[in-house]
Amino acid sequence: MTRSAQHTTDLDRLEFFIDGEWAKPHGTDTHRVIEAATEEEFATAALGSVADIDAAVLAARRALDEGPWGRTTPAERAEIMHRFADALLKRADVTSEVVTRENGMPIGTSRALNGHAPAGVFRTYAEMIKTVALEVIQPSPFGATIVRREPVGVVGAIVPWNYPQMIASWKVAPALAAGCTVVLKPSPETALDLYVFGEAAREAGLPPGVLNIVTAGREAGASLVTHPGVDKIAFTGSTATGRWIGAECGRLVRRATLELGGKSAAIVLDDVDLDVFLGGIGPASFMNNSQTCAAQSRILAPRSRYAEVVDALATFTRSQTIGNPLDPSVTIGPMASEQQQRKVLGYIDIARDSDARLISGGGRPAGQDRGWFVEPTVFADVKNTDRLAREEVFGPVIAVIPFDDDDDAVRIANDSDYGLAGSVWTADESRGLDIARRVRTGTIGVNYYSLDINAPFGGMKDSGIGRELGAEGLNAYFEYKTLLASAEQLPK
Ligand code: NAD
Repeated sequence: MTRSAQHTTDLDRLEFFIDGEWAKPHGTDTHRVIEAATEEEFATAALGSVADIDAAVLAARRALDEGPWGRTTPAERAEIMHRFADALLKRADVTSEVVTRENGMPIGTSRALNGHAPAGVFRTYAEMIKTVALEVIQPSPFGATIVRREPVGVVGAIVPWNYPQMIASWKVAPALAAGCTVVLKPSPETALDLYVFGEAAREAGLPPGVLNIVTAGREAGASLVTHPGVDKIAFTGSTATGRWIGAECGRLVRRATLELGGKSAAIVLDDVDLDVFLGGIGPASFMNNSQTCAAQSRILAPRSRYAEVVDALATFTRSQTIGNPLDPSVTIGPMASEQQQRKVLGYIDIARDSDARLISGGGRPAGQDRGWFVEPTVFADVKNTDRLAREEVFGPVIAVIPFDDDDDAVRIANDSDYGLAGSVWTADESRGLDIARRVRTGTIGVNYYSLDINAPFGGMKDSGIGRELGAEGLNAYFEYKTLLASAEQLPK
């Protein structure tokens, strides 16, 4: 949605953050930001053009090649990153409320994941970089070899709208810790909130050009991917976009990390304690109204307890409170956009036309005439070949699929193009871990699913390439260089 006439509110973001300054756009495109729960316009944001991306990349390039950032010590970078985290925390309440209005995320989740978690990620990488040996000297047949880690260079960080703050921090924090410079491109759907990173950069004293922020759509985003001044693309988004970015980066021999979609399975074993399952399935399957890449949208249930599991899911979904996500008692908010609501309702129609059995939900909730809401919906008797079991819905629609025994459950879980996440629910943790080891996904939990920001996160198969978070997430921002020298360099 673009227009040239603008209305003004306190939340408007009509400038980009380039070279340490708030910069006027080269073009006139703007985006009307619509509140997901009310369908009312609540702010306007500038949309960047190819020229704005170009200015941001040039600033990042200059800061990398000529600026002081690459010559700072890890301890100096860490100090700035802690100040950056302080600045984010000071604004946490406002930021989380803005994201909730933008994308419909329940406010409690938003406070945790948009308000507080990004600061934690900055602090984690600030501390980690102080412990990393940037040069390791080892003996060689010719004397000594120094294996050195250098920043990968200028990073183009492209993020989606579902967890904008958190996913941006997974890229920006390790990149800054490693000594890289960054052009961050937020999604138009969440065009307002990420400029808080620009305010934090100024408050923390980050040198100009080290972090640049331009919200833009597809065309300008694509120009960031192929810009000759960029060394690495760090992307989170759909598998379709990720394939295109991966192909372009392959053609250009450009580094890329791709965090893509999922169709994860929760495997309920025959010894499950249904109370434990019901206590954990909310975060595992319905977090952020299921607009979550790791959402467990296939529930694999044993035939021996199939009816019980289906009933439990129906009870769970019917007990949810649907409404304005700014209300802390609400557990299911709206979809982020009309397009997203249409897509989710489309999958419900597809499932209704199949042999699957609708158990609960199945459309827009009664009494919500404004806002892009979809009822939490459960379909039973879904076949793993059905579209509902194969394609990412990105909304609160669950497919329950029966299985015969543990081997059959593992086979069905792995029979997916995706490999992002999953869970196993059982009274016997070691049995659960055995199953979890056989499922080909980047993360999998036993009796709960959550994120551990100190461990790698990412996908196998069509869910992506590379890992973010943990030490692996920092290594993705280094190039390795081998220096050949004499034995004099060896420690005495
Ligand atoms: P999307 O692929 O449409 O967009 C993601 C970002 O890429 C946005 O900023 C968008 O503007 C930009 N973009 C789109 N086309 C581009 C192009 N040609 N070149 C450069 N940039 C381009 O995805 P979305 O709808 O915003 O996000 C939802 C998807 O993200 C889901 O598939 C979800 O599973 C995935 N996701 C994955 C993870 C993960 O860690 N694996 C996390 C969150 C979301």
